[in-house]
Amino acid sequence: MHVIQIAAELAPICKVGGLADVVQGLSRELVTRDHLVEIILPKYKHMRYDLITELRKSYENLIVNWNQRQISCIVYMGYVDELTCFFIEPQSEDNFFNRENCYGEPDDAERFAFFSKVSMEFLCKSNRHPEIIHCHDWHTGLIPVFKSEVYQHLGLRDSRTCYTIHNFKHQGICGQEILCATDLNRPEYFLSLDRLGDNRHKTALNLMKGGIVYSEFVTTVSPTHAIEARNQNLGFGLEKTLQTHQDKFKGVLNGIDCKVWNPREDSFIAKNYSVQTIERKSQNKRALRERLHLEDSKRPIIAYIGRLDTQKGLELVRHSIFYCINNKAQFVLLGTSPDPSINDDFDELKALVNEDLNCHLEIRFDEELAHQMFAGADMLLVPSRFEPCGLTQLIAMRYGTIPVVRSVGGLADTVFDKDNSEKDLDMRNGYVFKNDDVIAVERALDRAIACFDTAPKDFHSLIVTAMQADHSWSKSGQCYIDIYKHISSG
Ligand code: ADP
Repeated sequence: MHVIQIAAELAPICKVGGLADVVQGLSRELVTRDHLVEIILPKYKHMRYDLITELRKSYENLIVNWNQRQISCIVYMGYVDELTCFFIEPQSEDNFFNRENCYGEPDDAERFAFFSKVSMEFLCKSNRHPEIIHCHDWHTGLIPVFKSEVYQHLGLRDSRTCYTIHNFKHQGICGQEILCATDLNRPEYFLSLDRLGDNRHKTALNLMKGGIVYSEFVTTVSPTHAIEARNQNLGFGLEKTLQTHQDKFKGVLNGIDCKVWNPREDSFIAKNYSVQTIERKSQNKRALRERLHLEDSKRPIIAYIGRLDTQKGLELVRHSIFYCINNKAQFVLLGTSPDPSINDDFDELKALVNEDLNCHLEIRFDEELAHQMFAGADMLLVPSRFEPCGLTQLIAMRYGTIPVVRSVGGLADTVFDKDNSEKDLDMRNGYVFKNDDVIAVERALDRAIACFDTAPKDFHSLIVTAMQADHSWSKSGQCYIDIYKHISSG
């Protein structure tokens, strides 16, 4: 099958969070199964160009109508590992992608609406006829709209669109001027509630809703989150739309790329290890302590790695830092936020706690340190308020680092409590708490720390179970192929 992935992120060249890992991992899985995969991305200024090989111009002077004028674009081609990627570079003063960050700009809706339009124009003009166009999150919500309203009459009749929602919180809610900029026009048609009209804001356009309404299939990234988003008020206003389209909506659990996340071969970590040589993990713990100036002790290291977003339960993270250092554990954190006020808060906290030899916070994005933390920590805390899938708990388990998580979304689908779970004993792989409050997180941490301290054999079996579980893309890759086949035959 010929599959085009269109997304705003791809690991490791432009990564903010899990979206980047998923586009990388799923694409690689499809390639290993002999499908033809091509990925379209914006050509950002800040990409890891050192990780792109054979970058060259592939299509020049791609003219796109935009806001009553014409913008010429260059499409570059290059390889990221074995993946074929195209990068869109507009030649205009709008400077859409030549910025410091992927997101967080006042004109984000315009930037990604433009990206969506150029991507479709590129497919058309370069004579590509993919069976599947798989697009991701609000940034590409207009792709299925363009496909069925415009480009299916311009050569893309046989392509089908699959739309994956990684986070319902960000929907691309914007003004109707986008309709005019993209040449879709007809506000009375597109703003109707059964198309792109936002369910809550009467005159606003909702790009994610467009993706849901117009694509042939919609997924989110775990079965539990599919239920939460549709029926339990975690669709951020899109619940009704998901109910209307429930026959083409499904939760497919994300995998992780087991080549990227592999303690046996990870070149970032001090000592490679596997489930057969778990004892070597302790050398990574020692190296992490040295790197982060923690004292050597018998305490377990508990880590938080992730975006600093209210979604992630930041109050519980903050509480846990103090709770752990006061209760026989060490705490390390690696995170960053596009919101400067959140970064400032955590920078202040860092100044306060980094003096303590049992605690270390780093407020930035650092791929290498993330790998070292996954390998060196004993436990990983994920106290999210909501979590569509969550990859950090899956990565942690691959590194024998025991997750302590709140039972929401994909966390509930992948982590099973050691002491209280419906799962068989040999499936239990971590600690789970239910309530979004400090008592609940404290109890879960207490149980994890106590097991580490007083029942090392039990803790060791948790590590073995966690490391042996299969969280690769194999199963979910097959699920997506089944979806692609299903919509292609329809
Ligand atoms: P989300 O998609 O909500 O950001 P996920 O758990 O699905 O959360 O994915 C997060 C991914 O981003 C993981 O690969 C994690 O290691 C990585 N990550 C998040 N923050 C950082 C950071 N500050 N430095 C390095 N990697 C990070």
